[in-house]
Amino acid sequence: MVDSEVQDAINAQIGREFYAAYLYLGMMAYFEGQSLSGFGHWMRMQAREEATHAMKLVDFLLDRGGDLQLQAIDEPQHSFDSPVDVMRAALAHEREVTKTINELYALAVEKNDYPAQVLMLWFVSEQVEEEKNAGEIVDQLEFAAGSPGALLVLDGRLAGRLFEEEAEGE
Ligand code: FE
Repeated sequence: MVDSEVQDAINAQIGREFYAAYLYLGMMAYFEGQSLSGFGHWMRMQAREEATHAMKLVDFLLDRGGDLQLQAIDEPQHSFDSPVDVMRAALAHEREVTKTINELYALAVEKNDYPAQVLMLWFVSEQVEEEKNAGEIVDQLEFAAGSPGALLVLDGRLAGRLFEEEAEGE
């Protein structure tokens, strides 16, 4: 059995993870439109990863006999001024997600829900990675400001990103 408050919070988080996938899809479209296909690829991988985060939560609820209550997904931001504007928005979004993940972990602790604590600890670590990855790209875009050559080098590097599960050899 899942505590009803934990269940509600997980259902809300599932919506946020799908929203993140949606947001990153929009960002992918922006980059593709700018012919920055490496950045576009990175965003495509990011969107896929967010969908797997949502599915981790879906499976957790179902495995524990919980109620999956899918919620409406908000329309994401889809107009951006520049590559660095996109990446700053991605970083800001990840920081928001970190807050909600931390709140979910705190709730699982408060409710003595040990399985939810274990699951949320995975997400806590994942958020450290997410903020680091987005933050690095923001920094590098700031270094590259005004240099199309540097932007293209970065684009070429981001083209090599693997989907996380492939990268882990799963
Ligand atoms: Fe996520």
